[in-house]
Amino acid sequence: MKNIILLFALAVVVIFGITTYRKSKQEKPLVIIMMGAPGAGKGTQCVELSKSLNLPHISTGDLLRENIRNKTELGNIAKESIDKGLLVPDKIVIDMLFNHINSKAYDKIGYILDGFPRTINQAVTLDQRLGKKYKKIAINLNISEDQLIERITGRLMCKECGTPYHKVSLPPKEEGKCDKCGGELYQRKDDTEEVFKSRLEVYNKDTKPLLEFYENKKELYNIDSNVDKKVVFENIVKTVDKVIK
Ligand code: AMP
Repeated sequence: MKNIILLFALAVVVIFGITTYRKSKQEKPLVIIMMGAPGAGKGTQCVELSKSLNLPHISTGDLLRENIRNKTELGNIAKESIDKGLLVPDKIVIDMLFNHINSKAYDKIGYILDGFPRTINQAVTLDQRLGKKYKKIAINLNISEDQLIERITGRLMCKECGTPYHKVSLPPKEEGKCDKCGGELYQRKDDTEEVFKSRLEVYNKDTKPLLEFYENKKELYNIDSNVDKKVVFENIVKTVDKVIK
């Protein structure tokens, strides 16, 4: 009888433990870091992923461009670096991003980061902010350099809502007009072949080392991005599902 009671108590403890562990795992807000060279498809995939997971998509490039459009002090400083294909100084980007997250109270629900972090310093600062309260996944979109140049130089973007298009692979229904909001489409000043070269150099020097950083923390998942964007998306969703279950 005593043994049966002991066994029963043990079973209750184990079931309670597993349930609490699962609950605590699920309840952590999710932060997804979308990585990849310029032109790898981060923006396009983040837009879809944001809809599918119901998580806000935060692009530091979009936030910076918004500041440039609004001619803010931050925008004026950032413009010079962006037009040359260089990185905007860490402190400016970090403050801008964290202010944005605070103002929208995104900390409670989690988010998808597009274009951040781009340096080890940014990654360390993000880790300090997130601590252990979040489930964090870094997804790297792997793509060959030949494909990058084609994607970048054919890319178009909506002036109003930032939706990305491509002259050949993702044209708008009506030339020059955004399908979603009717806004004017334009080619980013930094999407020329010349600026792209400098962006790629910066990526290889400052951002690529982040792959090892997240690999060492066992937080990195590589996705082949040379294939059709729908397949890329399916693979991202499968990976995210596996990690959060
Ligand atoms: P993107 O739209 O992500 O391609 O970013 C466009 C440009 O904005 C980059 O080439 C950088 O000049 C700047 N930028 C965006 N995110 C960051 C970041 N995390 N750190 C520094 N510069 C950034």
